[in-house]
Amino acid sequence: MAKENKMNADVVIIGAGMAGAHLARSLREKGVDVLMLEAGDKRSRGDFLKIFYENPVKGPQAPYPSIPSAPHPEDNGYADFYVQDKDTLKENLFIGAYLRIFGGTSWHWTGFADRLRPEDFRMKSLYDVAEDWPIDYDTLVPHYLVAEKRWGVAGDPNHVWGAPRDGAPYEMPPIPATYLDKQVTKALEKMGLHSAIFSHARNSEIYDNRPVCCGNNTCVPICPIGAKYDASVDAQKAEDEGARVEVNTLVTFIESDKDGKITRVKVQKPDGSTFWVGGKVFALCGHAIENPRLLLNSKQEFARKGIANSSDSVGRYLLTQANQDTTGLTPDPVFPYRGPQQTSGLVERRDGDFRSKVAAIGTSFMNNGWSGNSDAINMAHDLIDKGVVGQDLPRQINEQVSRHLRLNSSAEVLPDYNNRLELSDQMDTAGIPKPKITFKMDEYTKQGLKVGLDINLEVFKNMGATEVKNNDPYLSNAIIGGTTRMGTDVKTSVVNSDLVAHDHDNLYIIGSSSHITMPVNAPSLTIAALAIRAADHMEKKLAETP
Ligand SMILES: Cc1cc2nc3c(=O)[nH]c(=O)nc-3n(C[C@H](O)[C@H](O)[C@H](O)COP(=O)(O)OP(=O)(O)OC[C@H]3O[C@@H](n4cnc5c(N)ncnc54)[C@H](O)[C@@H]3O)c2cc1C
Ligand code: SF4
Repeated sequence: MAKENKMNADVVIIGAGMAGAHLARSLREKGVDVLMLEAGDKRSRGDFLKIFYENPVKGPQAPYPSIPSAPHPEDNGYADFYVQDKDTLKENLFIGAYLRIFGGTSWHWTGFADRLRPEDFRMKSLYDVAEDWPIDYDTLVPHYLVAEKRWGVAGDPNHVWGAPRDGAPYEMPPIPATYLDKQVTKALEKMGLHSAIFSHARNSEIYDNRPVCCGNNTCVPICPIGAKYDASVDAQKAEDEGARVEVNTLVTFIESDKDGKITRVKVQKPDGSTFWVGGKVFALCGHAIENPRLLLNSKQEFARKGIANSSDSVGRYLLTQANQDTTGLTPDPVFPYRGPQQTSGLVERRDGDFRSKVAAIGTSFMNNGWSGNSDAINMAHDLIDKGVVGQDLPRQINEQVSRHLRLNSSAEVLPDYNNRLELSDQMDTAGIPKPKITFKMDEYTKQGLKVGLDINLEVFKNMGATEVKNNDPYLSNAIIGGTTRMGTDVKTSVVNSDLVAHDHDNLYIIGSSSHITMPVNAPSLTIAALAIRAADHMEKKLAETP
């Protein structure tokens, strides 16, 4: 069988994003033979910037056109990418964004560099909701430290967002609070509430030969200068350190033998040609949508429900977050569009006994105005339509845009058996069944957002803002997980605490797809830490493998 394989490696990694990059790097540090199969292309920052500047749509996917051989969701195209029941309520429409390019989705992430809180791993024990993780915070601490060193985290040691550091310093001093942050903070203080500076994966000093953040305010979708960390940094280091990388290589099928050993994976090139790749150990690091999609697409004689799916849990317990924005016009300028898009946030409501009944929320003070990168363009169109021209046009734009304030609250969602990804009977451009999503936002989450909204409205009132508006709750564009979750019970989970599939002892599934809860502290540092931890386990497994 091995002879049929065009390529072989001791460890075959599917996906060169956050999980794949850190896994590959850690394995190469141990001298392990690694091959990364990456569905997307490898392009330069300059290429992506050119596309972004020329694109009239300025959403999170704007610089990264989807390619037919490995499609990903596009701005304004989510309804075509995800198949959802036509009667789905607007609040349940799934708009999860991700990228299929070398380096993965963090190319366009915000750059929050959070550890989860110890409490986030113990929601069942502490608050009698969701479930406990089979690992705890302390288990991950050594791996968090390695991930933070690779990313370079700028943080405030006086406020660690609930994740104890035992004196471990951040790599860099905090990113400074903006003028806007300070005005919101004054309003919060009148309410007895507090703000703090987020921990950022963006440079406040030159770090790892990458420059200091200069406040371009386009972090999502792209940092023009690479001051914001993304996983292409570590994917490239893994390659430089000897990992073999095959880009434009879409894995379409995973094969198991009758004993549950994964034997090889099938790949498809952009010209439609296919071949097999063999290995001793396989690591699926394709993102929380693509991991279950590939597993479910691999139904075969010895895995009738798909790979790793004897429990019928693959695709279930889909996690995201829910958002709500409040906007208003402040009487005096708050000067958005300076600095990173989110620098500070509300300290309260991220954890506490209230989580037994109401979701935690994370509220950010948005430095990018009402609607992100398109406010000025939209307003220019409106004003021109009203006949405003000449010097009056920039004057009016400046006068109004400088007073745009937006507060964004994100709430956690609880894992639910019925929230799930399945395969649709419609095909994507690569010939793979599209993801079919079923999701229902629960009352727990909505109640959390309601608390956030009440706080936000009071902030605007304290600031004397006018034209105050809020939208209805909507699902997060950014945070996705839970579709191959970790657990000790083989009947309700897909991987064990070492991220090894219960059904296949040489298959690891890594990424937020294995997360059990999706709290407001961001998920990706935990993805990187778990990948680094998995490399230790893999090294031992390889030593035992003939
Ligand atoms: C707008 C936005 C903002 C965000 N902000 C934050 C933040 O501030 N902090 C945070 O922690 N997280 C944030 N996230 C989430 C974060 O980006 C993801 O959690 C993280 O990138 C997931 O890592 P991953 O390795 O699982 O997937 P990815 O990074 O997406 O990597 C998966 C890789 O696998 C490849 N792949 C997929 N399918 C296949 C296949 N079949 N064959 C071969 N290769 C394949 C893809 O091309 C990709 O390169 C944000 C996300 C978005 C969209
Ligand atoms: S503010 Fe600009 S320089 Fe700083 S991280 Fe964001 S995009 Fe990069």
